Amino acid sequence: MKYLDAFRDREVAVRLLERIGRLVTEASCPMTFMEVCGTHTMAIHQHGIRGLLPEGIRLISGPGCPVCVTPVGYVDHAVALARRGDVIIATFGDMVRVPGSSSSLHNEKARGADVRIVYSPLDAVALARKIPEKKVVFLGVGFETTTPTVAGAVLASQSAGLDNFLILCAHKTIPGPMAVLASDPELQVSGYICPAHVSAIIGPAAYQPLVDELNVPCVITGFEPLDMLQGIEMLAHQVIENRPRTENQYSRIVRADGNPRARAIMEQVFEPCDAIWRGIGEIPASGLRLRDEFRAFDAARQIAVDIEPPVEHPGCLCGEILKGKTTPRNCPLFGTTCTPEDPVGACMVSSEGTCAAEYKYGV
Ligand code: SF4
Repeated sequence: MKYLDAFRDREVAVRLLERIGRLVTEASCPMTFMEVCGTHTMAIHQHGIRGLLPEGIRLISGPGCPVCVTPVGYVDHAVALARRGDVIIATFGDMVRVPGSSSSLHNEKARGADVRIVYSPLDAVALARKIPEKKVVFLGVGFETTTPTVAGAVLASQSAGLDNFLILCAHKTIPGPMAVLASDPELQVSGYICPAHVSAIIGPAAYQPLVDELNVPCVITGFEPLDMLQGIEMLAHQVIENRPRTENQYSRIVRADGNPRARAIMEQVFEPCDAIWRGIGEIPASGLRLRDEFRAFDAARQIAVDIEPPVEHPGCLCGEILKGKTTPRNCPLFGTTCTPEDPVGACMVSSEGTCAAEYKYGV
């Protein structure tokens, strides 16, 4: 803990909280800050940040968990692919237990489907090389942090001449829903705790339209307790000064230009498309699809399957939770019918889901 301890210093935290308290006193109205990163959601719960803040600052969780925002129709598509005898589904672990309309990959695996958890898209490429008689479909779910690695896997597969590695693409980009939610009068978002990992790729400039067009303060913030308190203090300053801007609290990781190399590989392989977000609906140009020259790697275009009509669980409030309009404890299924062992909705499955965070750390 030698290095992390510096970001968990109790005395510094107390001083930051005193400063935040003075800013709240100075402010003429309450402030609502939204985080749009599942790791922030977990960190806020784990470190009890919400409970430390003075009245007058409210933290709400937005659509920061990529597994959670992936619509039920995508899970149904993956299930339909898994049911074919000639497909291996390769995925990060969180997707396996996300409920679809009538099944999940976990259920299909129990019935004999070949569903494998991998730790990198390159593991899926290796699988395709090892088992050439099967099609290996990697579930491409994630924001700008994950997408470059998937683009790299597509290029690696192309270089190796593999014709049995494909992806089922549901990649998304985060600024689109931030703009949608910042424009929602019901939410009254005073500022964004901008995601740390994603910002390491897209850089601070990606948030400038939110500042210029919607006057929303943005602070890229790290994950440790002092990072989060400092990020909140910076946002409160911006609100009081009435001078929205993009600031970078996490400058030890996030560079002024982000990661141009990662963006270049992402842009080489993917292009923007409209995308459906669970709870929010369709947002123009907020998704990524494989460019035409990479269509041979696109499972949606290469493998025909019948997909059942999407049906959400009627009692699940994931959609409202992902918009920051309600909290897990307002869901009547929370902790009773819906638990991490037996999840009803995606927000309880994912290790970054708001319901999972509340279940694990909530008091
Ligand atoms: Fe959905 Fe379960 Fe969360 Fe309720 S507690 S919103 S059912 S994931």
